[in-house]
Amino acid sequence: MPAARGNRERLFQVGRWLRATFQTPYPVTFRIVKKVAAAPNDKPATKRVGYYGSTERIGRKIVIRIACRPGMRRDDLFQTILHEFAHAVSMRHDRIEDERLNHGAHDDEWGLAYGKIYRRFYDEGGVESSSNY
Ligand SMILES: [Zn+2]
Repeated sequence: MPAARGNRERLFQVGRWLRATFQTPYPVTFRIVKKVAAAPNDKPATKRVGYYGSTERIGRKIVIRIACRPGMRRDDLFQTILHEFAHAVSMRHDRIEDERLNHGAHDDEWGLAYGKIYRRFYDEGGVESSSNY
């Protein structure tokens, strides 16, 4: 199957590849949206643009939102979905996660997960093989 031509469809392909390639404590749902709302206490400039992506555990599901608008570079979108998926991979089951000190932060576990995902995607054929998902 060829790589999808639209950024949105291509993100879903990479998302399906990520789900098939890496384990997460809960199933991951991808939402490709125009804007990922910033937090109420963020700076006005951040609120205007929103975030590039977010990862949130909702009960026994993980929801990843990726902002995808016309003009965004495809490689930036790839980096965002890999980054967010590393949050999902480094999450633990809820009772352990709730006691984690750096909840949701870019801690060592996140860094390790991101390194593995990044290498698999860019150095070990993921860019090409994700086109088959
Ligand atoms: Zn992050």
